[in-house]
Amino acid sequence: CGIVAYIGPRDAAPILLEGLARLEYRGYDSAGIAVAAKGSAGLKVRKQKGRVADLAASVPARFKGGTGIGHTRWATHGEPSDANSHPHLDGAERFAVVHNGIIENADELRAKLQSEGVVFRSETDTEVLAHLVAAHAVDGAELEDAVRAALKRVVGTYGIAVLDAERPDRIVVARNGSPIVLGIGEKEMFAASDVAALVRYTRQVVHLDDGELATVRADGFSTFTQDARITAKEPSTVDWEE
Ligand code: GLU
Repeated sequence: CGIVAYIGPRDAAPILLEGLARLEYRGYDSAGIAVAAKGSAGLKVRKQKGRVADLAASVPARFKGGTGIGHTRWATHGEPSDANSHPHLDGAERFAVVHNGIIENADELRAKLQSEGVVFRSETDTEVLAHLVAAHAVDGAELEDAVRAALKRVVGTYGIAVLDAERPDRIVVARNGSPIVLGIGEKEMFAASDVAALVRYTRQVVHLDDGELATVRADGFSTFTQDARITAKEPSTVDWEE
């Protein structure tokens, strides 16, 4: 339902939680965040059924890291529960994925992944994305390449944000039928499913088109297609009354 992402010099968690609170008006049943820090191993993840304020209260002070993604979920596949809340991780807990939309061939992909030994932790369609990204992140593949390869196997709608514990210098986002907008800050960048999550921080935005992906870094962004063709996007300014 709602996506927020941050990369920059500040701690991501408070910014993600603030952004998620701004998306509450859309309705949701669960919320979660994942954060990665430079040079530290592993992702920090907190996700649960219920309100953003309760999630915020349960995030510990040691939840440090300048790269992160957050989500408010409106369940389509699997009941509202802590396990079904986003972000979803691959088995090695290297990748975290948040997703808006519906993966139509999720059952088929799940069965295939299970036959390859993948163990699922949720009932969501989204979790297949995390395992697919991991399956394609081999032989030194860049995160962008792994995400593109994963999305080629998917039928359905998505806005996604992907975090890689081994590459906390970037977040990869993609859009197909579910909006993603980038927010350009001063040495920091944002992404979200809705400008409402960004306007407190920046008015300079870039809307992704369907079939488009972006790499978001603290000092800028690049956009490209599913076939790795670079697309040139001009930022626009949002008009917003608080
Ligand atoms: N289909 C996903 C799920 O049920 C995402 C739902 C949403 O857009 O929040 O978990």
